[in-house]
Amino acid sequence: MTESTQAATRKQPDDTPFNWHANKADKALAHFKSSEQGLSSEQAADRLAEFGPNRIETSQRSGPWVRLLRQFNNILIYILIAAAVGTAFLEHWVDTFVILAVVLINASIGYVQEGKAEQALDAIRNMLSPQAVVLRNGQRQTIEADQLVPGDIVLLQAGDKVPADLRLIDTRSLRIEEAVLTGESVPVEKRTEPVATSASLGDRLSLAYSGTLVSFGRGRGVVIATGEQTEIGRISAMLSSVETISTPLLRQTAEFGRILSIIIIFLSAIIFAFGYWVRDYAAAEMFLAAVSLAVSTIPEGLPAIMTITLAIGVQKMAKRNAIIRRLPAVETLGAVTTICSDKTGTLTRNEMTVQALVTADHEYQVTGVGYAPQGSIELAGQMLEQDQLEPALAMGLKGALLCNDSWLVEKEGDWQVNGDPTEGALLAAAMKVGLDPQTEAGLCPRTDLIPFESDHKFMATLHHDHEQQGYIFIKGAPEKILAMCQQQRTQQGDLPIDVDFWHQAMEKLAERGQRVLAIAVKRVPASQLELGFNDVQDGAILLNLFGIIDPPREEAIKAVAECHQAGIRVKMITGDHAGTAKAIGLQLGIGDGQTAVTGQEIEQMDDQTLQEVVSRVDIFARTSPEHKLRLVAALQAQGHVTAMTGDGVNDAPALKRADVGISMGRKGTEASKEASEMVLADDNFASIARAVREGRTVYNNIRKSILHMLPTNAGQSLTIIFAILLAHQLPLTPVQVLWVNMVTSVTLAMALAFEPTEPGVMRRHPRRPDMPLLSGLMLWRIPFVALLLWAGTFGHFVYMDMQGVIDEYARTVAINTLVAGQIFYLFNLRYIDQHVFSMDGLFGSKAMWIAVGTLVVLQLAFTYAPFMNTLFGTTPIATEDWIRILMFGLLVFILVEMEKWVRRRYFTAA
Ligand code: ATP
Repeated sequence: MTESTQAATRKQPDDTPFNWHANKADKALAHFKSSEQGLSSEQAADRLAEFGPNRIETSQRSGPWVRLLRQFNNILIYILIAAAVGTAFLEHWVDTFVILAVVLINASIGYVQEGKAEQALDAIRNMLSPQAVVLRNGQRQTIEADQLVPGDIVLLQAGDKVPADLRLIDTRSLRIEEAVLTGESVPVEKRTEPVATSASLGDRLSLAYSGTLVSFGRGRGVVIATGEQTEIGRISAMLSSVETISTPLLRQTAEFGRILSIIIIFLSAIIFAFGYWVRDYAAAEMFLAAVSLAVSTIPEGLPAIMTITLAIGVQKMAKRNAIIRRLPAVETLGAVTTICSDKTGTLTRNEMTVQALVTADHEYQVTGVGYAPQGSIELAGQMLEQDQLEPALAMGLKGALLCNDSWLVEKEGDWQVNGDPTEGALLAAAMKVGLDPQTEAGLCPRTDLIPFESDHKFMATLHHDHEQQGYIFIKGAPEKILAMCQQQRTQQGDLPIDVDFWHQAMEKLAERGQRVLAIAVKRVPASQLELGFNDVQDGAILLNLFGIIDPPREEAIKAVAECHQAGIRVKMITGDHAGTAKAIGLQLGIGDGQTAVTGQEIEQMDDQTLQEVVSRVDIFARTSPEHKLRLVAALQAQGHVTAMTGDGVNDAPALKRADVGISMGRKGTEASKEASEMVLADDNFASIARAVREGRTVYNNIRKSILHMLPTNAGQSLTIIFAILLAHQLPLTPVQVLWVNMVTSVTLAMALAFEPTEPGVMRRHPRRPDMPLLSGLMLWRIPFVALLLWAGTFGHFVYMDMQGVIDEYARTVAINTLVAGQIFYLFNLRYIDQHVFSMDGLFGSKAMWIAVGTLVVLQLAFTYAPFMNTLFGTTPIATEDWIRILMFGLLVFILVEMEKWVRRRYFTAA
């Protein structure tokens, strides 16, 4: 038996084998005791208790032991384990014990951190739980997809992700992309007729499978399986693609770590050979020195710190409504140079209100705001009743109610739209003269429709009234509707259309920043029961135009200004009319109010011209999704790192192509979310600007931890290398080095992970995306601070040695010197290039002061607690030593500030 036939005969919840695809839909409806009206709420609740939620547990993650063991699978840990074995042979038991303890602590920190970061990401993923539109108690409802039960009637439309396995009962050009199940990326046209029992998964045209994407049309189906019972639930291995916590920067660092380790092993071997043969040290002593060198150079804590920084950044973004779906986007966001944004709902509020109505004879004003059907239609200040409307307007408003898939609801006096806001505005306008959507739908029921798509920019519906007359109502972008009309309705009857008049009227409304819609009607024979694109090509009569306002979001105006300051170009790509787009753009600070390029013009341009245009023009109007793809490509060809927003199913290719694809959490389709790197929970442009700011912060904070940890490691290595070259006593023992690397460095660098955004971050130009990790500033600052720390540590050790103190004493002073240098340098790092002489600079970070406080306590214990003295070979030191130690710390701080000043003054900041 093949896999698919197995599936076909799989036991259903009641243990009866069914071939739903090979039987009529009625059979499924009857079997699940459902009907075209859907289940009742009680039935649904009972079934939910019986079958459980419609969820697939994807915990294909490795078990806790495997995860713990994985922490040891790291070259740095191998080196440490080898060092522990070596010291055990030499019977340096304390060293062995401390090194092993460090290995264990390191692994547990890694384990806990990885777990936490993953939890955080899971929580964020859960914020993206899908929804489903169902019929329950005969009413359309949007519910969480995990509440679906067998027998539910689910409505599908383009862009949806199928929420459960369905037996289709109605399809309208329904096409579904089933790549996730069958690997076939060409969408399959679905239908309701049964297919052969033996049909394979991809050929079962009468079923829609959970997890697949609706790419076109509409459909309705009854749920036949939920959760683990669905096809996708059975192959849940495919869902196990749990993203590992990594980004290009982390990978770059990991790679750097690997190279570093190899260099370290070689270096340690050379040092061992040099000491043993040239300097005649004892082998045991040289082994310890080589181990010290190895452990000192390895930045053990760095990977953990970087992961934490990233996880904190992602959490902060989520709190601010930017949900990261793919981690590398966090870094890419920081490098974005151009943001291409949709207009409606992202830059504007998506609260539409009809303000003007234009017929061939008059222009009317509509009063009232929002979706409340309160207000009136006025002609020259005169309020009109329903029976005073001229024929064109009476028919236009009726058409607006009928050619409409949305509805208005009143909740505690507040009117809201369910569905498309543009359509909501039309409903409210018609209801202001007393028209009622349900009455009209009852008088003139709908027989068929062509749904609205951004591609064709209109919607059409076919109706039949009780006198058996057929009508098609078509509403949409005026250019599209005008092209279908040969006549216009006037007070003198239907006359030939005056195209110029309508164009002027349209421009006039658009100039005021209004979105313009036209509505037309076409009489058809009563016998026509289906509607196709051919039926709306001509022969329609234009009724009227609607002018709809959708004010810009206040916060978007500010966010656009902030982006401009940050060297980021903002471009508006909208399906609206060029005039509307220019006017709204002007209010938002996008474009010059004069220039806009339309989708049609884009089509005339070759790639070369488009690249030139795209760097000049900020407003693109009357575009379709495929234009977005060309625009992203042109911007990328110009070297721009591009973020692009999108919500429709057809936006998916552009979102995938963009460096950061951004989808809309509220009005976005599942298809667009799947294709995107980031989802905006509030659909708001301002959240993009905030995410960019956070992206820059994360990148900076990761750089800061590298800038902090690497000089410490390098400083220590230098100290040891010099001691050996100069045949001097070792200033740091291996366990002391581990203390510094694992305790002091990690505590301090942890504070950097929590660093808030630097004040000037959004006033700088975006970072070059190809900038290597260790570049300019890093290559300079790391050796500079390393030398300072080395000079302090080694110098102070030699000085103490000359005072004739015992080695333990000199070492304790040397380590405290190193740690003081680290602490003071931490404050320098609050701002990478700018000086920190300000209240915010010195006191602005709580995390930093907590870290410093903790470290002071730890260092005092390290120096004075007897058990620490035994473990780490330290000893109490005197007050005057502390004074020198603090002075050194201060010196490091001042010298780094001077270095910054010189760089700012004479070099460009990196
Ligand atoms: P943006 O890209 O800025 O978000 P948009 O997505 O709202 O804009 P579209 O939805 O493609 O742009 O709308 C383009 C045009 O189609 C509108 O200007 C309007 O004339 C028309 N239109 C919008 N919604 C509908 C609808 N529900 N029915 C018919 N026509 C519509």
